[in-house]
Amino acid sequence: MQSSYTINDVKQIIHAAGDVVSHAAISILLTDSRRISNPACCLFFALGGRRDGHEFIADAYTAGVRNFVVSRQQDTIMPDANFLIVADVLSALQLLAAHHRKQYHLEVIGITGSNGKTIVKEWLYQLMSPEKNIVRNPKSYNSQIGVPLSVWQINQTHNLGIFEAGISTTGEMDRLEAVIRPTIGVLTHIGTAHDEGFSSAEEKLSEKLKLFKNCSQLIYNYDVLLDHKDELKTRHCFSWSRKFNQADLYVFSETTISGKYYMRAIYQEQEVECLLPYRDEASVENAIVCWATMLAMGYSPADADDRIERLAAVSMRLELKHGINDCSVIDDSYNSDIQSLEIALNFLNQQNQHQKKTLILSDIYQSGLQQDALYRQVAQMVSTKQVDRFIGVGTFLQQFKNDFNLPQMHFYADTAALLKDLNKLHLQGETILIKGSRSFGFEKISRALVQKAHETVLEINLNTLLNNLNFYKAKVKPGVKIMAMVKAFSYGSGTFEVANMLQYNRVDYLAVAYTDEGVELRENGITLPVMVLNPEPESYDKLVAYKLEPAIYSFSLLDEFVKFAQDEDVMNYPVHLKIDSGMHRVGFEAFEVETLCDLLEVNPYIRVQSVYSHLVASDAEQHDLFTMQQISIFEKAFKQIEDALGYTVIKHISNTSGITRWPNAQYDMVRLGIGLYGVDAAIPREESGLQPVATLKTTVSQVKKIPAAETIGYNRNGSLKADGKIATVRIGYADGYLRAFGNGVGRMLVNGKPVPTVGNITMDMCMLDVSSVEVKEGDEVIVFNDQQRIEELALQIGTIPYEILTNISQRVKRVYFYE
Ligand SMILES: *Cc1c(COP(=O)(O)O)cnc(C)c1O
Repeated sequence: MQSSYTINDVKQIIHAAGDVVSHAAISILLTDSRRISNPACCLFFALGGRRDGHEFIADAYTAGVRNFVVSRQQDTIMPDANFLIVADVLSALQLLAAHHRKQYHLEVIGITGSNGKTIVKEWLYQLMSPEKNIVRNPKSYNSQIGVPLSVWQINQTHNLGIFEAGISTTGEMDRLEAVIRPTIGVLTHIGTAHDEGFSSAEEKLSEKLKLFKNCSQLIYNYDVLLDHKDELKTRHCFSWSRKFNQADLYVFSETTISGKYYMRAIYQEQEVECLLPYRDEASVENAIVCWATMLAMGYSPADADDRIERLAAVSMRLELKHGINDCSVIDDSYNSDIQSLEIALNFLNQQNQHQKKTLILSDIYQSGLQQDALYRQVAQMVSTKQVDRFIGVGTFLQQFKNDFNLPQMHFYADTAALLKDLNKLHLQGETILIKGSRSFGFEKISRALVQKAHETVLEINLNTLLNNLNFYKAKVKPGVKIMAMVKAFSYGSGTFEVANMLQYNRVDYLAVAYTDEGVELRENGITLPVMVLNPEPESYDKLVAYKLEPAIYSFSLLDEFVKFAQDEDVMNYPVHLKIDSGMHRVGFEAFEVETLCDLLEVNPYIRVQSVYSHLVASDAEQHDLFTMQQISIFEKAFKQIEDALGYTVIKHISNTSGITRWPNAQYDMVRLGIGLYGVDAAIPREESGLQPVATLKTTVSQVKKIPAAETIGYNRNGSLKADGKIATVRIGYADGYLRAFGNGVGRMLVNGKPVPTVGNITMDMCMLDVSSVEVKEGDEVIVFNDQQRIEELALQIGTIPYEILTNISQRVKRVYFYE
């Protein structure tokens, strides 16, 4: 049963002012106007933040929403809508969720820590679902907004809640505690560094501990809380340690047995054991936390061991890949519940590259809802999210197929039946979302639909890209637009997948280098205005046909474009004027502006959309005087042009590094390039919230023992200092791993450890000196990621991150992740 409150109840609970003009039963809390399903039951919270939620009230109203929580009176006319007015909309959301939480007397585990929260939550869910009906945060919805939305899902069928809480500054945990009200606390890994929002690691820890203030039980790492003994005294505590035998669970032996991790511990003066199917440090610690939690909650050591051995990897990520027959495949084959279905459907909607959208869905387990209510809700969601073709797999979906009403529908009893029929479905040129419960083995479907990749892939994390975008959104002044630079395949990171993400998240403009790149965007669902930096006159017809906007940087280009417009009867076509303020690449120079103005004054064929210039060294202090000079040349030029035109234009000069270093030069728009992809030379890495977006990885094709006397590779350039071994990996200069990285200059991470190249890089492969690490055929090898950053690779061979990124050849498959 979904919970439901009358609008009058809600008004009382959140102490709101305002009139209730029509009755409503609220069951869905909405914070994003793009994610509306079942609008009649929605209550929209106009939250503040980077974009003021009040701006989207009209959108939500148009979509049918009639109930709003706002912090100021609305002056638009929506006579049949209820506006509840509160001082602070976020507090109102939390208050409502806290009230909801209090209606239920279930056991609730509250999890916090610096790392591992989501994994521990998902693992506890796996470990305890055999006998519990569990409600938990979808994915890692652990923020001030995510937590109340998660807690809102509690209903009377649940007998255990597992909620994680994440905070970024002081004061936040008290608010989350009031919403979650955990009865059992679990503290995961605590990093020693303190984050931006805290003055010290101590302060961060004390803040986190506030989640547990009303818990009757706390599970924690003994070593971490040694100094906090006094704070913990009042509670029933269960500690674990790998160092101290005073802990309730003392892990004294850890070894690897045939690929698995084997731990022995002392618990209640007995020796107990646990076998874990993972061996990396993070998984081991997260598993110990789960082990301790199970024991603390009364599970027997034998049960705990048995279940932990079968823990499945947690994949919170949606993967977007190129599929067969020109399809795009969004792969989420490992978890299926109604919340994550909604998240995946939103992602499906955001990727507009194909008009047709297909959902392959299995039966959903453990939703806490009655089957009929569940599938009615699924059917409703699927139709509001504009799925064109629905493929249902499982006996329940078959049973409730009459609830679904879509242009194309197919139902199968099981995965094997669908696989047999797959060819007959003629999946072609569509975006396919694959979403299944683990037991359905949907990975077989994704294997059949995804293009085979050779084993070197560039993974693009779209969430990180979004975080980077938001980082800069917070740095630009109110009203300043953002043009995202997606030239050169989005700096090597893909084209329309990245652009679709940016479009969905409301950047204002996109820019590409050539007309063809713009055409590709238009053919894949991009409707944003697109500026073309180098519009070749031969492509003007395409440019206009696809509504792309040329940058005009010379008299000849202007002349040719105006002639073209004249011939084609095009009027008022949007163009951008490029001023050369010191780069001396392309653009009108200061002395040419007057002549330019004369040409513009009487010209009905074009309309100047923007005037821009480009900074040559916005990140470099030693050139600051020059930058100021550029800015003043630009300013003079655009004033002259605006005077001549008689209207104002969008003015922009700042690239990534200019945004933070030259805030007064943001004008009306900034052009955000490499910062989106996580690199900004102007910002010290420790301080910035920027994260690298791309991970380049490959695999080991062979491992060889090599004596010191032998040579390795072409021209006999490589050798080992002592007898040792090498690993050959599937990446070479044709993939973009340049020859300059050869002979020990470059390093890759093999099972987490950096190892040097040995010998020359060849076209498709190269060799690594792995004498010092454990490695076998098929192991994954990292070329760059967030540990070994592109900036470091650039330093190794004396180039810049831009070149490293854009060099990765198109033969390397791109895979996109979204959480
Ligand atoms: C590539 C480019 C940018 C973006 O520069 P970043 O340093 O990557 O932010 C901005 N403006 C123009 C004209 C460009 O060509």
